[in-house]
Amino acid sequence: MGIRKLEAKGCNVYLLNNYLIDTGTSNSGEMILKQISDEKIDGIIITHAHLDHIGSAGFLQRELGCKVYAHELDIPYILGDKKLRYSGFLGILVRFGERLFKWEPPEEVEKIDKILDVFEVGESTHTDIAALHTPGHTPGSICLIYDKNLICGDLLRDGKLSNKSFCSDYEQYLHSVRAIMDLDFELVYSGHGRVFRKEEIKGIY
Ligand SMILES: [Zn+2]
Ligand SMILES: [Zn+2]
Repeated sequence: MGIRKLEAKGCNVYLLNNYLIDTGTSNSGEMILKQISDEKIDGIIITHAHLDHIGSAGFLQRELGCKVYAHELDIPYILGDKKLRYSGFLGILVRFGERLFKWEPPEEVEKIDKILDVFEVGESTHTDIAALHTPGHTPGSICLIYDKNLICGDLLRDGKLSNKSFCSDYEQYLHSVRAIMDLDFELVYSGHGRVFRKEEIKGIY
């Protein structure tokens, strides 16, 4: 039980109890499988639909024979039915990278509320593990709260804000970041970079 960080390419992948959180880029699948060969995996939870988090979701779903869960607003992007928008020069680079990367979407993605209580930002959480809908980086970005730990996807990195170019709606994103600050957590497990403490979060107000 608890949170374990796994080695992967593209993003940080965590094992939260029996759930795999995110999957890295498409060359991460085998690497992840080796590290969880002793575990029974109940499902894969996707924090948001960016390619560095979903690249191995199709492969791992097949190999593990488990379900993939995400917020319903990001499901069409994870399945490859819709494309996310990016802005600025970094956005152009991302779009270019997406065309280069070969990846296989999962066959099916279930709504996260089938396995976890989902709270909107501003609502307080009471359950041991819950998903919070924190839109703005993508429409269906989620954070997971477990005990005093926040698994935040790309909401924050090394205590800092995410780059505007990667956000689907930056105002909404800032609102989500401000709102999570009201929650009771101590450690933040980000999709990139190191684990950091809540006190280290900067640049929000
Ligand atoms: Zn992202
Ligand atoms: Zn990312």
